[in-house]
Amino acid sequence: MSESFDFIVVGKGMMGAAAARHLALAGASVALIGPDEPADWANHSGVFSSHYDNARITRTIDNDPVWARLARRSIERYDAIERESGVAFYHEVGCLIAGPAPGAAYDYIEKVEKARDALGVVAPRFDHDELSQRFPWFRFPKGTAGIYEQQGAGYINPRALVMAQTVCAQKGGTRIVRSEVRSVSEAPDRVVVTTRDGSRFDAGRVIVAAGGFSLSNTLLPRPIDLKVKARTVFFAEVASGDLAAFDGMPSLIGAAPEQERSYYLLPPVAYADGKHYIKIGGDPTDRVLDGEPAVRQWFRGSASVAAAEHLRGLLAEVMPGLRPVSTHFSPCVTSFTRRGLPYIGFAESERIAVVTGGNGQAAKSSDEIGRLGAALVINGRIDEPEYDADFSVAFR
Ligand SMILES: Cc1cc2nc3c(=O)[nH]c(=O)nc-3n(C[C@H](O)[C@H](O)[C@H](O)COP(=O)(O)OP(=O)(O)OC[C@H]3O[C@@H](n4cnc5c(N)ncnc54)[C@H](O)[C@@H]3O)c2cc1C
Repeated sequence: MSESFDFIVVGKGMMGAAAARHLALAGASVALIGPDEPADWANHSGVFSSHYDNARITRTIDNDPVWARLARRSIERYDAIERESGVAFYHEVGCLIAGPAPGAAYDYIEKVEKARDALGVVAPRFDHDELSQRFPWFRFPKGTAGIYEQQGAGYINPRALVMAQTVCAQKGGTRIVRSEVRSVSEAPDRVVVTTRDGSRFDAGRVIVAAGGFSLSNTLLPRPIDLKVKARTVFFAEVASGDLAAFDGMPSLIGAAPEQERSYYLLPPVAYADGKHYIKIGGDPTDRVLDGEPAVRQWFRGSASVAAAEHLRGLLAEVMPGLRPVSTHFSPCVTSFTRRGLPYIGFAESERIAVVTGGNGQAAKSSDEIGRLGAALVINGRIDEPEYDADFSVAFR
């Protein structure tokens, strides 16, 4: 026995849940299939996700105009998704991007200003001295400038956004199946999806939105060119009595030509243990995970001690006044595509589509990426002249 739908989305993550919501809005019959977060990571044998956290930076300002537009369109819909779902996920605390001032060889800040101006976003530039006055929590090297987007930026809770998208999709009639998919295969005129617990579903078209697990050789007919990188995230606990001192602190991106000097940093965010943590990420080197089993293994492990120590050092440099009560670190993965944009395209035939490849920055933009994925499977193509972009899938 197989349950039939117009569309099935494999992966109840950031892009998949968004795609399901948009498909349901279009009036299609949809199944969204993917497991919830495991309670015990170390002993979990199934798949994981890159959104198992409480904070992801959101901002329109970007050095790439396509990413800026993907973000902008998503951010514009946050409020409607929160209202429709009743789930709050957006914290508009602002975002600062700091990097070498214009005129330096590394022209990141100039590119951010260009993308900002093309979209008409209000985000003024501050020079080094202005930065230390306006943002007293941070200390930057001489010659740093910063672009500050105060409105429409800050951070989102990715767990809550996925929940909100799932609630909206379900309200729109989507069937939510909380299981891991074992296989996706084409049959004449249909695509058949089976789950680890033995259920069977079919649809006219399927979207595989499995994040780093899109490397799996049972989900796609042909391996895609996706580099999944191991990431370590460092958390510094802020004493509850100190929290008021961080009022007004924005999210921060430190952009540098050297990977080991680049980082992102979140203001104190509440977690399930009732504590608040400042979070910093930005691995000094890349470790590419070779295949889906390696991705599972990385999530089950305790991340990299060397990367965590590096992040501890960066945090002490940029926030010299911070005195954490405790620290810890945890694993995550980011998935990189050949062209640096997400894949939103068909995988070989026109029945199985792939929506993946967040390139470390798709949480904030996941709603628009999901919308484009939904448009692809509904219309058979993406017809969006505003995007001067190639979202097609590259294969290995
Ligand atoms: C440490 C870290 C920090 C980041 N910071 C930011 C940030 O500040 N701002 C930002 O915008 N982005 C950020 N990102 C990136 C962002 O989190 C990702 O781009 C985003 O989560 C990708 O969404 P996705 O839907 O592709 O993958 P995911 O959110 O990982 O979702 C994939 C889903 O597929 C499911 N799945 C996998 N295999 C199967 C299967 N076989 N069957 C069924 N379901 C399956 C998983 O359970 C998961 O729910 C960060 C990422 C990391 C790791």
